[in-house]
Amino acid sequence: MDCIFCQIAAGKIPSDIVYQDQEIIAFRDINPQAPRHLIIIPRKHIPSLTRLSPADFNLVGKMVAIANQLAEKEGVAEKGYRLAINCGEEGGQAVPHLHLHLIGGRRLSDALG
Ligand code: AMP
Ligand code: ZN
Repeated sequence: MDCIFCQIAAGKIPSDIVYQDQEIIAFRDINPQAPRHLIIIPRKHIPSLTRLSPADFNLVGKMVAIANQLAEKEGVAEKGYRLAINCGEEGGQAVPHLHLHLIGGRRLSDALG
């Protein structure tokens, strides 16, 4: 098991966890791009968006719902925030375990990259 996010989910490497249940964990990004930057992951190892199966669609919906709750909790819901999933090399995905970025706490640029 050399996937860093699987290791975080298993508690094998430390992280600043802000939410967890049987299916999903959320933790603070180690290299935040904004005052609030959380990573929301499924415990299940899904390598990327291209590997999603219809059986995972509910899980992704739940990740978004939890991100929205965390945005409230982090105090960014009212002013606004961004949810992003990078996919593949040109999409900027560095960690090959599906994850949702929740970024907020400052005005984000219009450009997506
Ligand atoms: P991506 O480029 O979409 O694959 O995003 C990966 C994110 O994971 C980056 O924002 C990293 O800063 C973050 N990251 C990598 N390792 C860790 C870690 N050990 N704990 C928390 N965040 C991490
Ligand atoms: Zn993994």
